[in-house]
Amino acid sequence: MDGRLFGEQMEEFLRIVQGHAETQEEVAANIVRALDAVAESLHIGKVDTYLSVPRTKLREQIDDMSRVLYVKTENIEPEPYAFKFSTGDGGLSVFTFYAMAGYSWDEKEQATVGVLARQIYLAFSQVMMGSLLKRSMLTDLSVGIPNISGIMEFAGRLFGRGVLGEYTAIYFNIHNFRYVNKVLPHLQADEVMKQYANMVANSVTSQEMVGRLGGDNFVALVRTENAENFVNFISNMDIIYPYVDEVKKFNFGATIGVGNLEGIRNVGELMQRSSIAYQMARQSESTAVAYYTDEMYKEIMQQKETIARFHRAIKQKEFVVYYQPKITTADKKICGAEALVRWKEKDRIIPPGMFIPILEKDGSICKLDFYVLDQVCDFLERRMQAGLPLLKISVNFSRKHVENPYLVQEITEVIDRHNVPHEYLEVELTESEDFRDYIVLSKLIEDLKTISISTSIDDFGTGYSSLNMLKMTPIDLLKIDKSFIPLESEYEEKQKDIIMFENIARLAKELGIQIIAEGVETKQQYEYLADVGCDMIQGYYFDKPLPEEEFLERVNVGHY
Ligand code: C2E
Ligand code: MG
Ligand code: MG
Repeated sequence: MDGRLFGEQMEEFLRIVQGHAETQEEVAANIVRALDAVAESLHIGKVDTYLSVPRTKLREQIDDMSRVLYVKTENIEPEPYAFKFSTGDGGLSVFTFYAMAGYSWDEKEQATVGVLARQIYLAFSQVMMGSLLKRSMLTDLSVGIPNISGIMEFAGRLFGRGVLGEYTAIYFNIHNFRYVNKVLPHLQADEVMKQYANMVANSVTSQEMVGRLGGDNFVALVRTENAENFVNFISNMDIIYPYVDEVKKFNFGATIGVGNLEGIRNVGELMQRSSIAYQMARQSESTAVAYYTDEMYKEIMQQKETIARFHRAIKQKEFVVYYQPKITTADKKICGAEALVRWKEKDRIIPPGMFIPILEKDGSICKLDFYVLDQVCDFLERRMQAGLPLLKISVNFSRKHVENPYLVQEITEVIDRHNVPHEYLEVELTESEDFRDYIVLSKLIEDLKTISISTSIDDFGTGYSSLNMLKMTPIDLLKIDKSFIPLESEYEEKQKDIIMFENIARLAKELGIQIIAEGVETKQQYEYLADVGCDMIQGYYFDKPLPEEEFLERVNVGHY
């Protein structure tokens, strides 16, 4: 072996073996070329490798493998030299070098072959680490299914093959996973999540994928012909989980947005349709699944725009409070008013029906309600300072507030900041379909009562009225919705409404709850209501909701 020549060959070997490679195949090809540079001088006949890799979450797809790395000649010595490297996590890489037949490596040559083996191992482990790292970046390690990057990468490959348009993206959120967190300790709840994730991931074919976006949000990319089945599957899933000495059974549904990917222009648009459909599904009270349509897109964009404008508008005080007088039926005197908000944008007035439902979905309504309360308190404070008599004003509070445990405290803070006596304020609440809300609602009404703020139930009769509620909670006032109060021409068709209304009125009276009818438009309605003992009236028959100045003119007169 010529030392100088071999030095150059070794340099060549190192240059090639350390050269760029992204896949195991590329490394193997480099190795063949690198060994070619030194095989002749070193009398290397053949090289095998054996890889043993333990299964872990990250690489369950890699199996043990042995392969021939390099063959210079089949005519080799039977006794090879094996070099073993442990991969640190229980794995093993073995490289076996065979000398050409009739040749025996001396000690120095053995050491040199050892150097080759180590270099080959390093080259291999670099791509292995690279692919492990890549896989770990594409995987949600806590459940072992792809994460958003994994899904995007998969979508990118489908897009590259020109088949992404044959797929449907399904964005979903598990219903009620909160319940699992409530009944199981953390670690066990995580196990249930893992089981859920793997169950949905395994329910799709090898050409499809389910990924976890975080928390209890997932996205699936399934072939469009399979979308319906997948939706049905995730709408009703049972998970059995043995815990201590019982077997817990969880049934999961999901809120689901389905978006066909036909005609998609780039992978960046992957989630657009399904997440819009998902937002619609979330807003819908009746169904848990929504399928994307172009109209949906327009509607969501309009909502987003309203919400964006809202935050600016509230800062710039574009919201104005109107007051609709309430009249005592017996003497037609003004006994108070309801505060109703209006949005004055430039020179147009937007009625609440146009923006309140949107703000409710987004939760911004809570901010608006407090703004109105503050304006009403300011109005009362100004009257107090002017030495004028106060009147009771009711303020609408959205059902959204029921989730706020500090609601009563926050209401009190606003009223007290203006030094207004609590008796002059009333909170209007609507009923809820959710029984748990209903319990919270009862508690809320009681808490308000203890600080002398009265509560009325708005739109009574239209929602989910529970007569129990009348019995259990200290409600002061029922506002009977206009749909119950018939016009003369409707007497025939509204017989049942009339019976209900008259009986509710009687029941309320006996329970000591006052009744106000809203939406009263005619003299005849007024007379009928006076007849059946309705305490108060609010409606166009007397006045529409009025701007503050006009309202004050009515208050100065005091009666109709
Ligand atoms: P609501 O609380 O039931 O208010 C009564 C609605 O009936 C008001 O509509 C009022 O203008 C209308 N109304 C009054 N008398 C008559 C009548 O004789 N005939 C007819 N056809 N309608 C009458 P408005 O002001 O458009 O408000 C609609 C709803 O928007 C309110 O219903 C309430 O649910 C909500 N809203 C208004 N202001 C606020 C607010 O500050 N916060 C919250 N959370 N909701 C509000
Ligand atoms: Mg109201
Ligand atoms: Mg109402």
